Amino acid sequence: MKKELIFLGPPACGKGTQTDKLAKFLNFPHVDTGSLLRNEIKNETEAGKEAKNYIDKGQLVPAELVAKIIKNRLSQDDCKNGFILDGYPRSVEQADKLEVINAEINNGEKVDFRAIYFDIDTNLLVERIVNRRSCPVCGEIYNLQSKPPKVPNHCDNDGAELTQRKDDTREVAQARFDTYFKETSPLIDYYQNKGVLKTIDANGTIDEVWDRLLKVIE
Ligand code: AMP
Repeated sequence: MKKELIFLGPPACGKGTQTDKLAKFLNFPHVDTGSLLRNEIKNETEAGKEAKNYIDKGQLVPAELVAKIIKNRLSQDDCKNGFILDGYPRSVEQADKLEVINAEINNGEKVDFRAIYFDIDTNLLVERIVNRRSCPVCGEIYNLQSKPPKVPNHCDNDGAELTQRKDDTREVAQARFDTYFKETSPLIDYYQNKGVLKTIDANGTIDEVWDRLLKVIE
């Protein structure tokens, strides 16, 4: 049966890292709305121009715009057997929209749908965000405190100069948390009520969280 996994959790809870690992493990595409939107901005598309105003302020991009991008991505061939959604849905409105999109792309066929919630102490996450850097070439994520590159500011894999996301400043990070608590956290109850929620303790090392994740996707 087709598997659809939705990853829920606050900004910088580690779900991007775990999604990436799981996508490779299951051979499913990792569909990450933040990256899809940043790509639209990089390519200077109309959607990208509109999305930028919201991303720069730590707010949600309008639901219609994201739905169009996500439907287009989930309709592609590589999503036929399953996919992992990271960062979508991010509001009850988007979750309702995803049900409509799913009905359209799956032609009424049943799917194994699970929402995995990364339960984490949010106090340290702003520090995690402001110390986050990434490689513009291979996408490797570093943290200046917990996972620094061997040569300061250069990628271990290819030597490229590391970059910081524009919205990874203290001020925008705070706004992203406010948006998360107001708009996204109600999805925990939403999926609990549908009986598809799995919660994992996301505190700890990457390996510890990975072991817990594997137990809930079996
Ligand atoms: P992320 O890379 O997941 O931290 O997302 C970065 C930013 O992209 C967010 O702060 C939002 O502005 C925007 N974004 C990502 N996913 C969504 C979504 N599902 N709905 C609306 N905006 C989104």
